[in-house]
Amino acid sequence: MAKARKIAVFGSRSVGKSSLTVQYVENHFVESYYPTIENQFQKKVVIKGQEYLIEILDTAGQDEFSLMNQKYLIGVHGYLLVYSITSRSSFDLLKIMRDKILDSVGTEEIPLVVVGNKSDLYSQRQVTIEEGQNLAKEFNCSFVECSARLNENVDECFQRLIQGIESTEDSKSST
Ligand code: GDP
Repeated sequence: MAKARKIAVFGSRSVGKSSLTVQYVENHFVESYYPTIENQFQKKVVIKGQEYLIEILDTAGQDEFSLMNQKYLIGVHGYLLVYSITSRSSFDLLKIMRDKILDSVGTEEIPLVVVGNKSDLYSQRQVTIEEGQNLAKEFNCSFVECSARLNENVDECFQRLIQGIESTEDSKSST
């Protein structure tokens, strides 16, 4: 039987949350997406022989002042925290975002993947791969650099998160 898993995609405005989600679900790149729109997507996938029905909440984008919307929390199993490698401020925001999620959920850990999008724009890079890796280490989660435009490593982001969710559940059920 397919397992239902709900994922929310977080990050500053225009880091590529919609592009990443649409590339994953529909396999094409959207040049421009209506920025304030919030969307829900579904995709059926098989990962390691297990079928999943993944529900993806593409959020409208956050900044340090936005309040945590409860609907971004209820029933959500894990989060993609997305920044753009061309934007230092979008990277800096991820710590604040993670704190807000943990505060609102009231746990010490939650399945996350740190995602550095727009890797095709390496000539405009403001955040190094090493910085991304270090942040993921601090968060105790995976790190992926990807390009929604070129469809590079996009599946990887979602698969890592699903696997992270699975291993959290395995450790819960074994205690
Ligand atoms: P969101 O506000 O985080 O959902 O960002 P969007 O998905 O709307 O993308 C913002 C802008 O960045 C759009 O113009 C996209 O075409 C562009 N974009 C998104 N992903 C990539 C990428 O991987 N590479 C490049 N070069 N541009 C991207």
